[in-house]
Amino acid sequence: MSNAILRLALPSPLRRLFDYLAPAGVSVDTLQPGMRVRVPFGRREMIGVLIEVSAHSDVPADKLKPALEILDETAPMPPAFFRLCMWTAQYYQHSIGDTFSWALPTLLRQGEPAIARQERFWSIAPGADLEDPRLNRAPRQRQALKTIAQHPHGVAHSLLSQLQLSKDSLEQLKDKGLVVVETRQHAPSARHSNWLAQPELPLNEEQLTASAAVQEGFGRYGAYLLAGVTGSGKTEVYLQLIHQTLQAGKQALVLIPEINLGPQTLARFERRFNARIALLHSAVNDRDRLDAWLAARDGDADIIIGTRSALFTPMKSPGLIIIDEEHDASYKQQEGLRYHARDLALVRAHQENVPIVLGSATPSLETLHNATSGRYQLLKLNKRAGGALPPRFLRLDVKSLPLDSGISGPMQQAISQTLAAGQQVLVFLNRRGFAPTLLCHDCGWLSECPRCDARMTVHQRSNELRCHHCGHAERQPRNCPKCQRVDLRPVGAGTERAEERLATLFPDVPVLRVDRDSTSRKDAMNNLLTTIERGEPCILVGTQMLAKGHHFPRVTLVAILDADGGLFSADFRASERMAQLIVQVAGRAGRAEEAGKVIIQSHLADHPLLVQLTEQGYFAFAEQALTERRDAGLPPFCHLALLRAEAHKPGQAEGFLDEACAEAEMLLGELQLEGIELLGPVPAPMERRAGRYRAQLLIQSAARAPLHRLLHAWLAAMEQMPSGRAVRWSLDVDPIDLF
Ligand code: ADP
Ligand code: ZN
Ligand code: ZN
Repeated sequence: MSNAILRLALPSPLRRLFDYLAPAGVSVDTLQPGMRVRVPFGRREMIGVLIEVSAHSDVPADKLKPALEILDETAPMPPAFFRLCMWTAQYYQHSIGDTFSWALPTLLRQGEPAIARQERFWSIAPGADLEDPRLNRAPRQRQALKTIAQHPHGVAHSLLSQLQLSKDSLEQLKDKGLVVVETRQHAPSARHSNWLAQPELPLNEEQLTASAAVQEGFGRYGAYLLAGVTGSGKTEVYLQLIHQTLQAGKQALVLIPEINLGPQTLARFERRFNARIALLHSAVNDRDRLDAWLAARDGDADIIIGTRSALFTPMKSPGLIIIDEEHDASYKQQEGLRYHARDLALVRAHQENVPIVLGSATPSLETLHNATSGRYQLLKLNKRAGGALPPRFLRLDVKSLPLDSGISGPMQQAISQTLAAGQQVLVFLNRRGFAPTLLCHDCGWLSECPRCDARMTVHQRSNELRCHHCGHAERQPRNCPKCQRVDLRPVGAGTERAEERLATLFPDVPVLRVDRDSTSRKDAMNNLLTTIERGEPCILVGTQMLAKGHHFPRVTLVAILDADGGLFSADFRASERMAQLIVQVAGRAGRAEEAGKVIIQSHLADHPLLVQLTEQGYFAFAEQALTERRDAGLPPFCHLALLRAEAHKPGQAEGFLDEACAEAEMLLGELQLEGIELLGPVPAPMERRAGRYRAQLLIQSAARAPLHRLLHAWLAAMEQMPSGRAVRWSLDVDPIDLF
């Protein structure tokens, strides 16, 4: 047995490495950091990642166990990937082993070989004639041949049905010698000169300036904020930058928010390029995800598109990173490794020395601040590219107006007029279900969730009360659970109620609802889009799902039923989020001939932020909001970390946090750190959730470096605290959600 000590990162929450002896017969010279190693761990086995080989260990020699097996002949992850994971673990104060678990494809962390699956590929035979006379009476085969001919790299067998190709037609074409089939790993790495499957649009002046600025920075790190109003042609700029990247022989990584409204963006990329596109989002199965990951790593994918976790996809020759809708909340992971994919993408771009483009019509205040302070180059697109006119905003004061299922009289009139003019209406309400509460008119009973400090939402269609925080659901009671009388009334309105009321008010037009409840069925969204595209008058009712991705060019009225939540919330980010939603939803409307109209119902119609937003636009709003943040000493003018704890018994979480707080105060003195404040511990704004009592301690720091010095020493101490064993606790660096 050799004396070499393998220092491994194991998928454990503990922030340390684990030492093992090398397996018998393994030569130390063959070991590389990043290789996967199978080891005994308690009564189980685990797969860890080799971080380093060392000559000695602090563990006594008789306690050291030999590893069972080295799983890889060479490290499956390139050094850049390894480095990014190490940086991530350090920055988010997270266990290295668990960081690798989040970053690696599931199959790799389960020990699957890092080898791509073999697949059959169909392609056109050299010299085959699309007009071959033998196909004159076989239209299906001719069509199939034409489809295959559009794919110079061949079509994977698994994609045949997606392209509506029948296997029988292809077999017949093969017998005629017109197509060939071969078995190989993913598409070949031959690069070619014709990347475009579709001509590019001539860019307008703003687009040209933006595109030129980024191209100027190709080949080195640089961050660009492409701030362009909805429909200003940001995606067209991305596409052309990607084309340049491909021509330079490099790969492009594109991150998109979690897809709600189907693969529209994706389709645009696929239509534009003769390129191998690797897809990594939540609907991709484990095997396909591993293949995509390997293809990207080996340079066999040209464009990598995915949601949050695709940020970790390794690339053989990275050339460009694009973060679409950079303000989107889905880039922040809210469990386990609480990373922000946008922030990490900037780190990655820096480490790999490539330019990064952050695009949004409504940039986050953090990003805007970075752009105005010169860290990022600001590129603006102010005009809509397709010639569509910008929408007009109207604030509708509903202070003394009766609301009919959330819809005021003047709003109903506006909807009616729009429909009468043969146009479509979009009604936005960021609350699903029928009503947010059920109330007993006799005794005042409210439908509280038994497991949370929250009300259960009425879902009329399914006759249920559902908690949107923990998922608890029960049948709607007929009698009041407290006084047994029957006068139970839904209070307030959600999308289901608005839909029902609108259908009654406007019986002659279709009313279509878009929210998580309505679109969970497959195809529901497609049916909906077909109806909308037909262009006849209709009403769309929905939540923030409407704000993402899709354009509805025939919508000329956007009715926003409730903007107030964002104006008096305890969460300091609520107004930013509200403004982004309003602008994003508004951006779905309008066309060349007629500007869209956006009517916002509010009880606070004169609120300065709302006035600023509707009269001067998002950037004026953002400037004002940033001033308020600066005055209040809030991000981006300070840095935050949030220590959360939860436990089954009341008081337990606070007990741990009190101890943690005392420890932190001691460390502040010991390390002589300035400018750090500990706020709390306090009960979480929703103290009980899913049956657990939650509390939190906020750490606020003027500068980044001292905060991280504190966190590093503090976590080591907290891991040793006995009171920490009885509670579930976690640290969130740069928290987005303080709840
Ligand atoms: P964004 O990503 O900013 O929302 P898109 O790139 O989707 O904008 O462009 C909006 C619409 O304008 C699309 O229909 C697109 O085809 C069109 N468009 C974009 N750039 C141009 C251009 N340079 N000339 C003509 N039409 C354009
Ligand atoms: Zn009652
Ligand atoms: Zn609940």
